[in-house]
Amino acid sequence: MRISEVKIIHYRAPLREAFTTSFGTMKVRDTVLIMLGDEEGYTGWGEAPVDNGPWYNPETVATAIHVIKDYIVPALRNKEIRHPCVLRGLLSRIRGHNMAKAGVEFALWDLYAKKLGKPLYKIIGGVRKRVEAGLSIGVIGDMERLLKSVAAGLEKGYRRIKIKIKPGWDVLPVKTIRREYGDIPLQVDANAAYTLHDLPVFRELDKFDLLMIEQPLHYDDLYMHSILQQNIDTPICLDESIENIYDALAGYKLGSYRVINIKPARVGGLCETLAIHWFAYQHNIPVWIGGLLETGIGRAFQIAAATLPNIRYPNDISESSRFYVEEIVEPPWKLSSDGTYIVPEKPGIGVEVREDIIIKHAEKVLSYSF
Ligand SMILES: [Mg+2]
Repeated sequence: MRISEVKIIHYRAPLREAFTTSFGTMKVRDTVLIMLGDEEGYTGWGEAPVDNGPWYNPETVATAIHVIKDYIVPALRNKEIRHPCVLRGLLSRIRGHNMAKAGVEFALWDLYAKKLGKPLYKIIGGVRKRVEAGLSIGVIGDMERLLKSVAAGLEKGYRRIKIKIKPGWDVLPVKTIRREYGDIPLQVDANAAYTLHDLPVFRELDKFDLLMIEQPLHYDDLYMHSILQQNIDTPICLDESIENIYDALAGYKLGSYRVINIKPARVGGLCETLAIHWFAYQHNIPVWIGGLLETGIGRAFQIAAATLPNIRYPNDISESSRFYVEEIVEPPWKLSSDGTYIVPEKPGIGVEVREDIIIKHAEKVLSYSF
């Protein structure tokens, strides 16, 4: 592949309803979309699902655009790229900025798979025709509304329920869900909102037979998580703390986790996703694919990653219509009644990108040809 055309788009997707985590509340989802075109006329799309501010990780819309425009795009110029993972070598001087790198790598994967005429999932070694979806519910703070959301999720067919927790909203919602819905597959995600001083809270949560407790402690920590894991039975699942294969290795050696939530964008793309996935497979550690409120484009890469063999829990892949007023891919991602998505068999990401809708909500479009 020789890249001859690049578009970097700041896309502002209106959300159906506000989404709250321990980071805050958002009503519009700002994200960065990337289109790459090659000399033979093939195109590929990717997404860097960054936030407006450095809340989930240090990246923002502005840093992603800056790094893609000023460092990544110049590195693609006049290069023959034989495989998407070659990008890692081309970008080896750029430290961090995993989501910016992932967005461009995703677009390369889509383009590469389209050129080969094969679906993306097959090219990365995926083995599933359907992938399981779980529902992630934000910090609602209102028990009645929480129970309604759980009921709606179960009715939709989602295969497990995850609720976001924060200090003051943890044991009681879990207890209430268990009381109302019995032994459903249930897990919690703290998004790093606790410290080891909160051990009594985790000991309480330990009584409710949760599938896992996700990222309870500091976003950059492995050691404290290993102490917490020694003191509770519920498996700890790390999300924010695992940014690459080195973190996965260190956390494994320390005993910091028993499950990994791999977000392909967090770890810099599908190449690092594959490395972590196969490392975990070798050590019999289950993994699953997490989400960052991706648009339909980012979701395509989550679905491809979720077809890998060592995915052993339902993935955080919600229907587009749950969050977004308009979907930017055709057909939209629609959950089957059994709580799975059918993996597209068309070449590349397997869905058409609706540029007309993208342009409608685009805040800024940068275009380059070379
Ligand atoms: Mg998480």
